[in-house]
Amino acid sequence: MKTMKHVTEEVTPIRLRINGEKVFNKFIAWLFFRMFRREKRLTDYPRLKLALLFKAELENVTDVVPGYDEYEWHFKVKCTSCNEVNNNWVGVNRLDQNEIPGSRGSANLVMRCKFCKRESSAQFDTSPVTPYTIENSGKFAQMTTIECRGLEFIDFEPRATVGTDSGTKFEDIDLTDGDWAEYDEKGGIPVGISEVQAEFKRV
Ligand SMILES: [Zn+2]
Repeated sequence: MKTMKHVTEEVTPIRLRINGEKVFNKFIAWLFFRMFRREKRLTDYPRLKLALLFKAELENVTDVVPGYDEYEWHFKVKCTSCNEVNNNWVGVNRLDQNEIPGSRGSANLVMRCKFCKRESSAQFDTSPVTPYTIENSGKFAQMTTIECRGLEFIDFEPRATVGTDSGTKFEDIDLTDGDWAEYDEKGGIPVGISEVQAEFKRV
């Protein structure tokens, strides 16, 4: 009787300790899984480099550029995880730096797909945007490149700052309809942009 009681007392703490270790190990495994998964979410996506190509017919216009530093670019975004297209225009500023969750990196655009909830990012090339000039008139020319992860830009809202021969600058011109015409008072000539086309090409 005395021996049995003694044994029972010893066994119980050992079993508790084993269960405790199991729970602890499971917790560690779960923790690693979470850390690994979060890290994987960001590095998992292949990088996609897109060139923004622009084409238009220019009349007495020297250069067209969407905007400089503070300009808010607008894109239509397709999620490359679930292939759904967000119908709203997504604004991106080249000067913005947003933290990428779970990473030391940052990007101009960090967003979460409203359909599959996956995170994605986009980063403009840091060199200045190349204006579309009269020499390019009627031909596609590259304005900038953007590196994307988990998303793809499929459309671009063409708004622009327009320079003319006389030195007059027309700002925030809406080219969504594909053309624009104005009279340049200083130069005494009509100015215009027509047959606007923009597309993204994988580079
Ligand atoms: Zn998605």
